[in-house]
Amino acid sequence: MKASAIVVAAGSGTRLGLTTPKALVELDGTSLLMRVLRTLAQVQALIEIVVAVPQGAQQSARAQANAAQLQVPVKITEGGAMRQDSVRIGLELTSAEADFTVVHDAARPFATGAMFSACLSAAVSGGGAIIAIPAADTLKQVETGTIVASVPRDGLWQAQTPQAFRRKLLMAAHEWARREQISVTDDAQLLERRGLPVQVVQGSALNFKITTREDLKIAEAIARFARG
Ligand code: C5P
Repeated sequence: MKASAIVVAAGSGTRLGLTTPKALVELDGTSLLMRVLRTLAQVQALIEIVVAVPQGAQQSARAQANAAQLQVPVKITEGGAMRQDSVRIGLELTSAEADFTVVHDAARPFATGAMFSACLSAAVSGGGAIIAIPAADTLKQVETGTIVASVPRDGLWQAQTPQAFRRKLLMAAHEWARREQISVTDDAQLLERRGLPVQVVQGSALNFKITTREDLKIAEAIARFARG
């Protein structure tokens, strides 16, 4: 099986109060982007990596890709206004030689090579697969600061990335979403909404997405701990 990886790294990081792009933020001296690239180096199926970065960050991203010394080509592009746009732009740059595409958020620096491989393997049998974890907390629906309902958490999972799909399925889904002006927060939703099955592979709470300053502090601590 041949696959392309798309790393969406075009988020601005304004929620973190950053002036530099989030993907270039360092954890224990290594950027989020570099961490993801090093993980991708362990994934046998990949024939190329496409990275979507914010406007003005292409040179820095290129320098990081060069420093990572990967065995496969790394294409760097400017992303779009929303995550979905960044994925679509990245997808257009993937090689037709790849049957599968695996999409990953640069903001999840603790995804493992095993997660990518497991996700790709599951996508081979079912067409699409994502990494997710079962919801652990009790979920409340809240309106103006008051609980209006408790949502039973049985069967509820939190979607993460990597998310892997047969390339043509994902391309068709993105084209459809663009035509129909459908916006989604992850790629699996596009297949779901077209009635296509997406498998779930259990991930890890460590594969959280860095969104807030608190997340960044936790991630820094984990990165230092992992170094020992
Ligand atoms: O903003 P959020 O944390 O949901 O972003 C998830 C991932 O999507 C991040 O890795 C971010 O860099 C990426 N993203 C992107 N293009 C955007 C917005 C977010 O590539 N326009």
